[in-house]
Amino acid sequence: MDIRINSYIPITNVEGVGTRFAIWVQGCSLHCKGCANSHMWDKEGGTTYDTKDFIELIKQYKDRVEGITWLGGEPLEQIEAVTEISKAVQEIGLSVILFTGYEYSALKDNKDFQELIKYVDILIDGRYEQDKTDYSRAWVGSSNQNYYFLTDRYNQKVITECKNKIEVRISPDNKVVMTGMGDFKALAELVR
Ligand code: SF4
Repeated sequence: MDIRINSYIPITNVEGVGTRFAIWVQGCSLHCKGCANSHMWDKEGGTTYDTKDFIELIKQYKDRVEGITWLGGEPLEQIEAVTEISKAVQEIGLSVILFTGYEYSALKDNKDFQELIKYVDILIDGRYEQDKTDYSRAWVGSSNQNYYFLTDRYNQKVITECKNKIEVRISPDNKVVMTGMGDFKALAELVR
């Protein structure tokens, strides 16, 4: 099976609990106003990986990360591939956090979704809503988004323990990549 991915960072400290392997899937049909990742909307963009190869890639980092985090793009629009990889990740003892723009209440009776969430520890739902922008809670950008703790691995405490952070990576060719959650516009102004 294939999965279309925009990008990934094998080791990051700003995309969920602890140190994580973060994956931004390519393709999102929700088109939220003010989305910071509109370059990830195109379902034909990004890079295609065989899921088995991608699992092997994650395994190379299994002793250096606590788990993986799915971001996007919209992970649920590639639900079979995301489920296969999440299952394999749980089997090697890592945790799974998944962000979706869809609402949990609308998904919970869907069979594919029920299969996926067997392998998800924390699900964070809801679109980014520009008029509800709020960076005060961990990892999320608007106040309508909700956290669901689906296993015993984590609980509500992590939300207060973890603060929103931004990582800035500068490559040798001076390309600047910022990830995490916070006021990116203000930071970009500062960098400029
Ligand atoms: S769901 Fe996420 S990636 Fe998709 S448009 Fe909304 S904010 Fe952007």
